[in-house]
Order: sequence, then C-alpha cells, then structure tokens
Amino acid sequence: MMVMDGVHLEVNRSRIDAIVEEFMAKVALITGGNKGIGFEVARQLGRAGFTVLLGARDASRGAVAADKLRGEGADVRFVVADLNRAPESGAALAKRIGEEFGHLDVLVNNAGMGDPADGHASVATIDALRHTFETNFFGAVAFTQELLPLLRAAEGARIVNVSSALGSLAINGDASSPFYHVKSLAYNASKAALNMFTVDLAYDLRETKVKVNSACPGFTATDMTNHNAPQTVEEGAIAIVRLAQLPDDGPTGCFIHKDGTYPW
Ligand code: NAP
Repeated sequence: MMVMDGVHLEVNRSRIDAIVEEFMAKVALITGGNKGIGFEVARQLGRAGFTVLLGARDASRGAVAADKLRGEGADVRFVVADLNRAPESGAALAKRIGEEFGHLDVLVNNAGMGDPADGHASVATIDALRHTFETNFFGAVAFTQELLPLLRAAEGARIVNVSSALGSLAINGDASSPFYHVKSLAYNASKAALNMFTVDLAYDLRETKVKVNSACPGFTATDMTNHNAPQTVEEGAIAIVRLAQLPDDGPTGCFIHKDGTYPW
C-alpha cells in the first residue's frame, strides 16, 4: 500500500518493476528479420543484450524465427513489419513500441528484395522498378519516418540502412571494379536511393545523438543469392552489427562494409 496526497493506492511492485524494466531496455528493431542476414543480425544483437523486435511481414515465419532465437536465450519478440503496407504497418509498429518501451535504440532497415524482371538499364521493366523501390526504398523511408520520434527519444539511437556495393554510383561507373558488370537497374537504383536517404537523414539529425549509416553486407549466401555466394550470414552481419552498436564518437552519414568504407 502506498499513500499519495492522502490517497491510498494499491501498488503491485512486480508490475511496476516490469514496466520500468521495459522502459530501461535497449531495444532494436530489424526488418526482414525472419531469415538470411536479418535473422543473423537479430541473433547477434540478442546475444549483445538488446531486446530484439524481429520484424517480419508473415506472422508464422516471424513467430517461428523469434521462437528459435528465444530458445537460444535471447529476448526476441516477433513484430509485424510489412514494407509493402507502409506507412500503415510502420505506424502500427511505432504505436506498439511507444506503448511498450517508449523509445527505440536501433533500427535496422534490412528487408529487401530483387525482382525477376530486373535487368540492364535498357530492358529492366517499369513494374520491376516500381516493385523494387516499393520495398527497398519507399518502405524503408516510411518505416524510418514513423519510428523517428521513438528513435529521437532514445539515449543515442542508431539507424542502419542495409544497402549494397551495387548501390554505389562510383562503383557502378568504375570499369576496374569487380562489380562493374553487375547491372540490375531496379535493385542498384533502389540501393543508391537508400544511400541518399542515409546521407540526407544524417544531415537532418546532425545536431542530435542519432547516427544514420549505410552498410553493405557483402556477397552472402542467402535465399536472395540462391545460397550461391562466398560469405556466411555471420560475415554478412558484421558491418550491420557494428553500425548498430557504434560508440557516441562513431561516424554518421557513412557507407561501410566489414573491411572498410565504400564510395557513394
Ligand atoms: P533474404 O534472405 O531474401 O531475406 C530478405 C528479408 O527481407 C526476408 O526476411 C524477407 O521476408 C524480407 N522482405 C522482403 N520484402 C519485404 C517486404 N515487402 N516487407 C517486409 N519484409 C520483406 O535476403 P538477404 O540476403 O538476407 O538480404 C538482406 C538485405 O541485405 C537486403 O536488403 C539485401 O538487399 C541486402 N544485401 C544482400 C546481399 C547478399 O549477398 N545476400 C548483398 C548486399 C546487400 P520474407 O521471408 O517474407 O520474404
């Protein structure tokens, strides 16, 4: 029993402790967390002590993935994050996170896709361009904007946009680059646009403690690459997890991979 202004209040101490604990937790949201690189990032941030919100558009795939990581001992919870239903899905998620935690420490915009009708600039279909931009760019921008008040409410939030070397204009135009001949207009342009979002949002947030960076995972064996790539998901997660946990004097508005930086 507690007395406040002469009023007797019944206080459930363990309930209050639980609420305080939720509001103190370091919370990370990863979109596209149900498989591939996103799943591995969720695993590593869970191991690092974050309360992980594993975002997925499909409830059963998301719940199975979150259960698996909880089974490994991490605090991982499935949340719906459907980039094709942005901004509504992002707004609903922001409401839930706001009510439960009051802030968001890390946002990893990882969900991404490629379209089978993508191709060289002379033939890529307009539908493929629209479809790819819908997820890789518009979805990521809309989710970030919805979640921004919660990111600003954190101690010093980190936003990681999962991009690609294929989104670098400099690399695309460099005949000596190993990626020079990898021309998929929709995918490459969507990641270039995402990189612009990184640069411009870092500008908007330059007077705050929020850091915004792009990460390239590298060529990684996942469903996206038909598991035909040299890197493991553990290697693919390195740059993303590093940016998610940048110290306060770390960079913002940068484009990194696990071994260094990429030119825009
Ligand atoms: P992946 O295994 O195919 O996983 C992609 C994830 O994104 C899945 O969870 C997928 O969900 C989700 N997703 C796709 N569209 C979505 C939407 N509209 N709404 C919500 N979620 C959506 O691919 P990955 O290789 O791990 O790719 C992860 C990120 O790394 C992507 O942004 C990709 O562009 C980037 N990347 C990958 C490589 C590589 O070599 N693998 C290289 C450079 C950059 P579903 O399971 O429901 O489809």
